Amino acid sequence: MKPIKLLCEIVAQKGKVAASSYSRHPYFSALLAFGFLERAGAVQSVPCLNCDNPHNAEIVHHSGRDGFFCPEMGFIPVAEDEINAVRGNTLKIINALADAFDCRARKSSPVAGQTWRVGKAINEAGDITIYFHPTLRAERDATELSAALAQEPGSTYRLILSAAGKLKVAGTTTVPLLDVVELDVCGAGFRRVADLRDLVGAPRKNLGGAPNRYGETLSALIRQRIVDGSALDGRNEEARAVLSVFKQSNPLLNPPSLSSVQDYVTKVRAGQ
Ligand SMILES: [Zn+2]
Repeated sequence: MKPIKLLCEIVAQKGKVAASSYSRHPYFSALLAFGFLERAGAVQSVPCLNCDNPHNAEIVHHSGRDGFFCPEMGFIPVAEDEINAVRGNTLKIINALADAFDCRARKSSPVAGQTWRVGKAINEAGDITIYFHPTLRAERDATELSAALAQEPGSTYRLILSAAGKLKVAGTTTVPLLDVVELDVCGAGFRRVADLRDLVGAPRKNLGGAPNRYGETLSALIRQRIVDGSALDGRNEEARAVLSVFKQSNPLLNPPSLSSVQDYVTKVRAGQ
């Protein structure tokens, strides 16, 4: 089981879980050491496996020992490490997410209930505001989340991450946390495994723009001018000449910028 999956499994329980249920997992102690999990005292009850009627029993202190009462077997003492509890550290998760996605407008307390704002990731197509809600499995989760979002400032896109469930909430995209980040147990933080723009359906602006679209045409033109001896010595004047030829031959196309043509002249001359 990947460390992020272990974390999600514990967080999805929204409270204390017995450390003993997970302590054999190879990443359990790393999650505790890095603070994604925190100690949370003792569990309130444990399952009784001593009798024929499986039941949960409350932990009590009896005759100087911790244990529980089983209707059939009487008092059964329990070792300390069996009742130690841990829980997910939501603030740590929120901060690590905000770091992983370079978020602004972070918020280190819940917006309301269990809805947290991780922050705003800025991109060229608009802001993507990331929220976290431990589970999105029951209608109650969705209702609580919608109510919390109603108090929030607007955003072009809203992405909801959750440890379990992906119930749809109007005006948002919900994605399981483990589809978005991996937990780096060496670097003690989250590592992105998805592009937020793809998740929310934001268009990707072609940052390379003209050079990507016209790369082959420009390179061919530059090579041809070298071969036929018409290439000018200076890189910048050659780029201006290439751009001018390009415009004449492709009057209907939106021409590339001079700087991208300069880059292509450099690349072709370097033999790339
Ligand atoms: Zn029992």
